[in-house]
Amino acid sequence: MEDRQCAIITGAGRGIGRAIAVKLYENGMNVVINYANNDEAARETERLCKDTGAGGEVLVVKGDVSNPDDAGNIVDEAVSKFGRVDVLVNNAGITRDGLLLRMSEEDFDRVLDTNLKGAFFLTKEVVKPMMKKRYGRIINISSIVGVHGNAGQANYAASKAGLIGLTKSVAKELAGRNITSNAVAPGMIRTEMTDVMDEKVKDKMKSEIPLGRMGTPEDIADAVAFLADEKSSYITGQVLVVDGGLAL
Ligand code: NAP
Repeated sequence: MEDRQCAIITGAGRGIGRAIAVKLYENGMNVVINYANNDEAARETERLCKDTGAGGEVLVVKGDVSNPDDAGNIVDEAVSKFGRVDVLVNNAGITRDGLLLRMSEEDFDRVLDTNLKGAFFLTKEVVKPMMKKRYGRIINISSIVGVHGNAGQANYAASKAGLIGLTKSVAKELAGRNITSNAVAPGMIRTEMTDVMDEKVKDKMKSEIPLGRMGTPEDIADAVAFLADEKSSYITGQVLVVDGGLAL
């Protein structure tokens, strides 16, 4: 049986998920790269993993995390190729920003379905192989917005706060099976998600970050790699804020 651990990273075609996949691969894991639509970006993530020279295997699986059948398929494919799942990173996420009074039910549901229900579906699926092995690391990518709220992001903040509740409940429920569950709450990270923001708004936010810069996807990947490590065996139910001090 393959000695390398297997990590599933959802939404790993671009941005933070891509950096997490590359980091975990570089650290010696086989990785499963999930994404929604952008085939080319997912292949680029695969190439970047291989370029590290770490020698593991990569499985690319297209699928919408908000669809329970797709979620089941992502985990089934991982188990049939690698025979195990050691790490799940629920990273796939979207925004549909707008002020509450103008926010449609559809925009609310879409964000909750992807960011929160997607994590629920994947976690449910992955817990079966993890329980069998009595080992697992589940890491949910929340946001400081889920802790503090944000005007114009009622749907997104609700989904990210929900992820924290999910993280803590799963931590309590599965601790007896040696499965840990933690969240990482990024601040303002430079990706395509934040590229669309107005430069003036970004400059203002940057001036409020004590460390004086936006974060990089690699800043988040390093935090995830720490929680995904076997050595982080006594940390569960926690929210690790990685925001350059923004929320202080
Ligand atoms: P991004 O650059 O927009 O990338 C999002 C990734 O998620 C893409 O690979 C996309 O796939 C995938 N995805 C979207 N919907 C999906 C679905 N239904 N099923 C499967 N995959 C899906 O986003 P990011 O900035 O890297 O954000 C990653 C995570 O960090 C999100 O959960 C986000 O909320 C969180 N976060 C980001 C920031 C920030 O400042 N950027 C701050 C706090 C938290 P395709 O490539 O196929 O479209």
